[in-house]
Amino acid sequence: MASGVDNDAGKAVSPRLVKARRDAVVLIVLIAAVMMLIWNGSAFVHEITIAHAALGQDVSLASAALTLNVALILFGWRRYGDLQHEAEMRADGERRAALLATTEPTTGLLNRKGFADRAGALCASCGSATAQLVIVSIQIHRFKTVNDQHGHETGDALLRELAAALTANFDDSSAVGRLAADEFAIAVIMPADEIERAEGLADAALHGVSRPFAIGERIIQVGAFAGIAAAPAAQTRIPDLLRRADIAMDHAKSGRVARPVWFDDGMERALLAHGEIEQGIRFGLQHGQFVPYFEPQVDLASGNIIGFEVLARWKHPLSGSVGPDVFIPVAEEIGLIGQLSEQVIGAALREAAAWDPTITISVNISPSQFADGWLAHRIVRLLTETGFPAERLVIEVTESSLFADVDLARSIVTSLKNQGVRLALDDFGTGFSSLAHLRSLPFDVIKIDRSFLSDVHENRESIAIIRAVTTLANALSVPVCIEGIEAEPAFRTVMGLGCEIGQGWYFGKAMTADDARELLSSRARRLEEEAPPADCNDLTAARS
Ligand code: C2E
Ligand code: MG
Ligand code: MG
Repeated sequence: MASGVDNDAGKAVSPRLVKARRDAVVLIVLIAAVMMLIWNGSAFVHEITIAHAALGQDVSLASAALTLNVALILFGWRRYGDLQHEAEMRADGERRAALLATTEPTTGLLNRKGFADRAGALCASCGSATAQLVIVSIQIHRFKTVNDQHGHETGDALLRELAAALTANFDDSSAVGRLAADEFAIAVIMPADEIERAEGLADAALHGVSRPFAIGERIIQVGAFAGIAAAPAAQTRIPDLLRRADIAMDHAKSGRVARPVWFDDGMERALLAHGEIEQGIRFGLQHGQFVPYFEPQVDLASGNIIGFEVLARWKHPLSGSVGPDVFIPVAEEIGLIGQLSEQVIGAALREAAAWDPTITISVNISPSQFADGWLAHRIVRLLTETGFPAERLVIEVTESSLFADVDLARSIVTSLKNQGVRLALDDFGTGFSSLAHLRSLPFDVIKIDRSFLSDVHENRESIAIIRAVTTLANALSVPVCIEGIEAEPAFRTVMGLGCEIGQGWYFGKAMTADDARELLSSRARRLEEEAPPADCNDLTAARS
């Protein structure tokens, strides 16, 4: 198995160790040379001593030379031993440092650097021009909750089990690493014509980590997501391939796909586009690029404009006017939807505060904004800052916003309703469409989603659904607004179905504040005329 424990890097002889050995050898040679000198010297002294002894003189000089000889030998031997020990200690330390630099301590698997080194070594030694390097990236789903629920010791024990489960399937011709707290990766070399096998390997790895593990007295089971990427072993850059496997794994995760997902170039392009949108949103928020557009809402019986729905547009310096389907999901994901909505709603209310006081303004609130306990406070602050009357404001929410945390939603809605703000249930018919939901909160308007309008004049089912919803809403004394009226036939059809309010391109597309103001002015001028023609109303004005 190719974890970091049997890493080769520690066996390399370091320059420091070579130098220490060389020092030891030089010292021994020096000592030997000195000993030779002393030996010769003492032999000379010995001769003198004998000569002196023959003359009856003292022999102490000879003894001193001999003692010095022995001391030097002992000193040299000891110094050699010390140096040898020091060299071994250094070698050991360097081996451990090399191991730590390439493995992670909890599981003993390769860390990111070790994994890249090992995968690189696999590529270098595979010896085939057509071989592919396959990287499988695996992320454990909600691993943090294991730590949170059972403590870090249990989490660590589980990680060791997961590491063992992964390495069990792979031999020395592969690399298995733990690259982040809950992320593992496997690198394998494969012949190009067997590349489909990679999916089976990845699947086995997924099953390996997704089975129940006995940790102490507990049985713990986690889910996992996997992404696969492959490239020719001879040319690939390991970090690039790993990044691609991660991108594929993210796709598996965001799509909740419980089997391995192959990387494709479209994923990378989408990621780059996402990154650009994200940067653009941050910049655009700083530079006031998000502006409100106003879509007329019409009283179907009279044809008069009774309000506008505010729809955000991104005035992008290069792409022109960008619709919310591009940027709202990204803004939600990066946590900036609250700020963006506030900017758009603030601008809309500031603008509309001076308009005809009978005109309502409807604003959209995303599900993620409803998780903010300060939402009601923020909206009331906008009303105060802009001087816009609360009674003219309608908040549009979808069912999913309200029922994720129904208590919080109820408290936000209650605070707003206490101020006089009205509440519309948006896109009814696309979510849960639960009758219980309709009763649980005090809606002032129910908006039927535009998807029911696409072929309403010829689709009996759509007609039946719209009729059923309006009957129910009428029973609850809640008016119905129907969205997406694009043309005359749809308009004629919904007129007979009990809907009171309508909006859609038939009445006018979302327009700038200037155009909305102009539309209202022409309406006011017309109303000032004492006897307006019977067939002239806002509908004809808005469409002219
Ligand atoms: P929504 O609230 O259901 O808005 C209605 C959408 O239907 C708008 O799309 C509008 O342009 C489109 N529409 C209106 N009439 C017609 C029609 O006759 N035919 C067709 N095919 N479409 C029509 P838009 O502007 O792209 O907005 C999409 C969604 O983005 C909105 O759906 C709303 O949920 C969200 N949104 C827009 N502005 C904001 C905002 O400021 N904040 C938040 N949180 N969400 C926003
Ligand atoms: Mg809406
Ligand atoms: Mg809608």
